[in-house]
Amino acid sequence: MSTVDSSIPKDNIKTYDYVVVGAGSAGAIVATRLSEDPDKEVLLLEAGPEDDSYWSKIPLGFAKILFIDKYMWRNHQTEPEPGLKNKQYPLMHGKLLGGSSAVNGLVHVRGTSFDYNSWEKDGAEGWGYKDVLPYFKKYERDHRGEDEYHGEDGPIGIEKARWQNPLADDFIDAAANTLNIPHNDDFNRPAIEGAGYWDLTTWNGRRSSTSETYIKPNRNRSNLHVLTEAYVTKVNFEGKTAVGVTYERDGEVYHARANRETILSGGALQTPQLLQLSGIGPADLLKEHGIDIVHDLEGVGENLVDHMQISRKYTTSSQHTLNKQVGNIFQQIKAGINYYLGPRNGPLTIGAALAGAFVKTRADVEAPDLQIHFLPYMPGDKGYDLANFSGFRLGMYQSRPVSRGRVRITSADPKDSPSILFNHLTEEEDVRTIMEGMKMAKRVVDSMPDKYNIKEIEPGADGDTDEGLLDYIRENGDTSFHFCGTARMGTDEMAVVDPQLRVRGVDKLRVIDASVMPTTSSGNINPAVLMIGEKGADLVKEQ
Ligand SMILES: Cc1cc2nc3c(=O)[nH]c(=O)nc-3n(C[C@H](O)[C@H](O)[C@H](O)COP(=O)(O)OP(=O)(O)OC[C@H]3O[C@@H](n4cnc5c(N)ncnc54)[C@H](O)[C@@H]3O)c2cc1C
Repeated sequence: MSTVDSSIPKDNIKTYDYVVVGAGSAGAIVATRLSEDPDKEVLLLEAGPEDDSYWSKIPLGFAKILFIDKYMWRNHQTEPEPGLKNKQYPLMHGKLLGGSSAVNGLVHVRGTSFDYNSWEKDGAEGWGYKDVLPYFKKYERDHRGEDEYHGEDGPIGIEKARWQNPLADDFIDAAANTLNIPHNDDFNRPAIEGAGYWDLTTWNGRRSSTSETYIKPNRNRSNLHVLTEAYVTKVNFEGKTAVGVTYERDGEVYHARANRETILSGGALQTPQLLQLSGIGPADLLKEHGIDIVHDLEGVGENLVDHMQISRKYTTSSQHTLNKQVGNIFQQIKAGINYYLGPRNGPLTIGAALAGAFVKTRADVEAPDLQIHFLPYMPGDKGYDLANFSGFRLGMYQSRPVSRGRVRITSADPKDSPSILFNHLTEEEDVRTIMEGMKMAKRVVDSMPDKYNIKEIEPGADGDTDEGLLDYIRENGDTSFHFCGTARMGTDEMAVVDPQLRVRGVDKLRVIDASVMPTTSSGNINPAVLMIGEKGADLVKEQ
């Protein structure tokens, strides 16, 4: 059986060695690494535009770019979430060269050695901590320099925000003392318990996205072909062999043929959608939408994992909040001058969170199961603005949630959004952990110095009883944008890719992005995806 559309004009068909779909955290790395061999022709197709926004370069610019439609996927939303009072809420992620690495909150935490050793134990052979560590080091340009756990020659800069301040220092001290955890200056080692300032994916105060660090310096390679605003609608097959993709650009339909391999890197929401649209997925779902089955693979789109986050919100008299530092136009101009003409430090160099902590909510967990973020600002009503008072939040999520969701197509039309359900807070362990986390966070803030005049806005008195606190969490919880797991690697029946990231049951097709993660890493997941990009590229080269 061939799924190649024979009506496409000859001029719209081109042949490459590799076709990579999606230029995000992983895809940009894969295409760049594969094109290191000048004899291999590599096509990288990205649905979004060039990474040409000023806001994607300044770390704090994430708060602006998230609200510019041109650079974001905004058409996705959840199904009614049963654990969140059946709330439906919108989702977003990056749609530009660099993908979500160009718009995310920049916090760089790899997770624990326990995470990767668990992946291996559950069937992802070759993905234990000792195996993945060299690939973390490969992409890193860490401010600490080279050592056992850090790399210094890679493209992605890793440094601290250049705006550390007394309020954040006091949060860190309070977390360490109250929760009985160490001060931690380096969360990117095997053990991550402690409180401290986060590392960020920045270098010299600028965002290190994969578009800036992988694609841009290598774009002049004659064998690396990068096409933006190219929307892939289908993977094409001859029998069970993937032979490339169909994509749309400027209203025309094209075929990109791949002699060696087709690689999907569209992210954990769109990669499973594309697989299903192309005839790889649960047979019943494909039949329901009239899609010819290339291979019945039940796990495609299942096992969706995310970190459900919830915050405590405070007012303070401290001047060390964004509300007080860049709350008006004069302060913004001053911060801009300092950033562009001065030492490039100050509040514009921070990511979504400045500091935080990893802690165990019960003694018998093998690794910290809660991550707390210190966010030194209170947003205004529009989301991208700031409230007119000084405030901060403690945001948190369970490191390794038990609940699982899924992504399923709703029609055979590639432009229709898939149905997305996280099932947040539908498992007892998830509820217990986040309840305990909210109580721990309150103890931390209650122990901060009186001079800050801290007052809780939310949950406030509603959170004084367990019933009120859980109600607040279910009402206000939502995503951390850490979607993963929907094309899980492994060797069991529900695995979608094998440990070499090849889609099971077909030939010449791989997935290399957040979808392949068997479960989430403990912490913000971009580092795990960058590592997957580097290791995935090596697996393709080895073939
Ligand atoms: C708002 C936000 C904040 C975040 N904050 C952090 C953080 O602080 N720290 C952290 O570690 N992680 C963070 N993350 C998560 C992290 O950035 C992502 O998990 C990671 O970037 C995912 O990488 P990926 O390669 O799987 O997908 P992406 O980087 O999302 O890339 C997928 C790319 O594929 C393209 N694409 C999709 N479908 C098609 C198609 N059919 N045709 C062509 N192109 C297609 C998309 O446009 C996109 O560019 C955040 C994510 C978001 C959205």
